[in-house]
Amino acid sequence: MTVVETGRFSVRRSSSFEQVPGDLPPAGQFINGRFVPGTSGDTMNIEDPASGNVVAAVAAGTVEDTDAAIAAAVAAKQAWAAATPKHRSDVLHRIAGIIEDNRELLERLEALNTGKPEAVAEDDITSALDTFRFTAGAARSLTSLAAGDYAEGHTSVILREPVGVVGVITPWNYPLLMAAWKIAPVLAAGNTVVLKPSEQTPLSTLKLAELIAAELPAGVLNIVTGAGSVVGQRLAEHPDVDLVAITGSVGSGQKVAGSAAGTVKRVHLELGGKAPVVVFDDADLQAAAAGVRSAGFWNAGQECGAACRVLVHASVAEKFTELLVREVSSIIVGGPGTGTETEVGPMISRAHFERVQEALRQAKADGLNIAVGGSAIEGPGYFIEPTVITGVPAGAGISGQEIFGPVVSVETFGTDEEAVQRANETPYGLAASVWTTDAARSLNIPRRLDFGTVWVNSHLVLACEVPWGGFKGSGYGRDLSLYALEDFSRTKHVMINHGA
Ligand code: NAD
Repeated sequence: MTVVETGRFSVRRSSSFEQVPGDLPPAGQFINGRFVPGTSGDTMNIEDPASGNVVAAVAAGTVEDTDAAIAAAVAAKQAWAAATPKHRSDVLHRIAGIIEDNRELLERLEALNTGKPEAVAEDDITSALDTFRFTAGAARSLTSLAAGDYAEGHTSVILREPVGVVGVITPWNYPLLMAAWKIAPVLAAGNTVVLKPSEQTPLSTLKLAELIAAELPAGVLNIVTGAGSVVGQRLAEHPDVDLVAITGSVGSGQKVAGSAAGTVKRVHLELGGKAPVVVFDDADLQAAAAGVRSAGFWNAGQECGAACRVLVHASVAEKFTELLVREVSSIIVGGPGTGTETEVGPMISRAHFERVQEALRQAKADGLNIAVGGSAIEGPGYFIEPTVITGVPAGAGISGQEIFGPVVSVETFGTDEEAVQRANETPYGLAASVWTTDAARSLNIPRRLDFGTVWVNSHLVLACEVPWGGFKGSGYGRDLSLYALEDFSRTKHVMINHGA
């Protein structure tokens, strides 16, 4: 391992982290149960962001590729919808087993394609595996309104049916995990899938398709790699796609919802966030500072629920900032293969690296105080210093903007009323946290916050049993839990006149 010293932070690098022959997925698109060459023959390069090296190339998908995948999903949908919940559950259990058996390979591939430190890649694969396990169980316990005579002489039965063909579009921050969050409930509910991974990070999703191909009937799961504006848009507009689900930025979600409007298909949107962290004067400040270290910098802050915007009571702001700066100053930055202590990896791409640097330049130009970090770290790779920005006034641009990097800003408030109002003053509504030892506040404040998840004295703790999803600009629809299974199915009322 070499250590490159750059100011306060150094980047740990490993020369022993290598691609193992056989790790990469086969070339081509995964359509109708097998890998087939893309129709155009064009490819897109895949980079390792920890080094900037090209590590693979995948097919640049076309409208024709997408249409072929949709046709395969249409052909497969009747038989898959007719399978019993037990059968589908058994398949999901087997997929979980395959992920477990190939855990090291998938962790390595995810780390290669994203630069994630080992701890994050390990958590991603563990969570993907648990998503399939939980959903396998949940698939067998869906409920609906009891059958009964709700109108005289008529018996009502509620059927829960699959929606049909589901188009799925995933982001680059947790490539396999975000795919798992969709594939598991979409298949469990009896739908067939055409999934487009992010153009930056398709490797683990393609690998999963290769590994589980024998478990699924041809056409039930199809993967088409390519640009959002080509493959993603086609999925959103195609008349044979019954629902389109995207995890991504607000702008991409708006485009998908717009394209989907032409066929009035159902839309499921998991979009960006800018999570406020409200620290009251009675909070355990050390716990809050440690919580922000972990939840603000997990996955290098490339996390839709990241604890990135602290609102702290003015009376404890100085003490809290001191603790936070101390926590963040000791964060270990590095690439894959540098040990489980490494916490912060690189930005996903040169373009994103430049976007985050631009946000830092803007913060400096606005006169905000950089308490720690604030700059890119010299290459190779796209590393940014873990950064804390203080002295942020009410209404500052940085408070509403999703930076999606290792950057946490700190503002102060005076009253509970102001804390709630300022926390809600964002176009996003994905997640928030409240730090307090006051029992009444821990119950009352979350109710007044406009976010799909609110933690109390915690941040970024997720479980498959409970829903994840946003309000306002963060979208609608829920991932995880029984709510996801409901989102990916439809209810039909059958009413039988029995003439009694
Ligand atoms: P992105 O919006 O750039 O891309 C997401 C996906 O959308 C990619 O596959 C992309 O190809 C596709 N896409 C882009 N334009 C499209 C179009 N016109 N039609 C159809 N598809 C299109 O997002 P990203 O940079 O990959 O991911 C980061 C974003 O994702 C952040 O905003 C983050 O907050 C969000 N995110 C949200 C959640 C959540 O659960 N709410 C989880 C992870 C990431």
